[in-house]
Amino acid sequence: MKPNDFPINKSGGAEIDQQQFCPFCEGNENHTPPEVAAFRNSNQPVNGPGWSIRVVPNKFSPFKLRGGLDLIDNGIFQSCNLLGKHEVLVETPHHGLEFHNFDTGQIELVYRMVCQRYSELSADQRIKYIQIYKNRGLFAGASMTHSHTQILALPAVPGENRGLLKYYNQHHQCLLCSVLKEEKKQQVRVVGESEYFLIICPYASRFSYESWIIPKKHAEHFNAISNEELEDLAETIKAFLLTIVECLDNPSYNIVINTAPVNVPYCEGYHWFLEIVPRLIVNAGVEFATGCYMNPVAPELAAVCFRDRLSEYHSKLKINQV
Ligand SMILES: [Zn+2]
Ligand SMILES: [Zn+2]
Repeated sequence: MKPNDFPINKSGGAEIDQQQFCPFCEGNENHTPPEVAAFRNSNQPVNGPGWSIRVVPNKFSPFKLRGGLDLIDNGIFQSCNLLGKHEVLVETPHHGLEFHNFDTGQIELVYRMVCQRYSELSADQRIKYIQIYKNRGLFAGASMTHSHTQILALPAVPGENRGLLKYYNQHHQCLLCSVLKEEKKQQVRVVGESEYFLIICPYASRFSYESWIIPKKHAEHFNAISNEELEDLAETIKAFLLTIVECLDNPSYNIVINTAPVNVPYCEGYHWFLEIVPRLIVNAGVEFATGCYMNPVAPELAAVCFRDRLSEYHSKLKINQV
């Protein structure tokens, strides 16, 4: 399928921008819960204007970091309380400015704040996993257009985030370090490479044009990123998102950062990486029924589609010619 063949390839941004009032805009700070962190001018009071990044609790989240984790065993109907924290990182004071149009300094600030929140949230021993994610556009699940990232601190490690550990236990090597080595050798699914990161369209991907940005140096936790890596990441993400937006006709997209669990006995095999998934197709019955994803675009073709365009946006990236 060509990019313009997808049924929902246009961004959902326009459809949800009809809201009358935005609590994330500068000047509306008293319409959110009190901020938990911010980058702001030193002479500006908290919970007022004058910030560049602001983090607030998610007003509508059912998660509360209160007490312990209570497992309720009611026969086959088991449940637990929603122990955790759910925060919203407002990435810019400017409504309508899209993440991929930020300057790289602002993207760097976003991820610097993510690191800060990651460290602070993981200091609570009840938290076992921190999921960082961004929904852009209606089809990616965004309900607010104002650019933001969400940080969900959970009391257990979700099954979806245990795959790398499972591979390590079977093979005694880091799956992503092996993937980096093999992809660089094969040069089939590589989109580009910066000093610290490799961009690939992963083998047997679930979603069309799904892409991963992988740190070339083995690192477990996202907040271990150095200043140089952070700067490189911001440039790489910006260049790659502009590529996606142009190649795929301004799609909705999700950005997810997968990282190692916290406050659990140490286990090897985790290697943080960032997934970018353009939302081009609605899951159909077969995906729900079987867990098998039908992807009409081979990642090998997606990589070719992105490769040439990316080089236009990022002269520093080494684009591999196939
Ligand atoms: Zn706004
Ligand atoms: Zn590794």
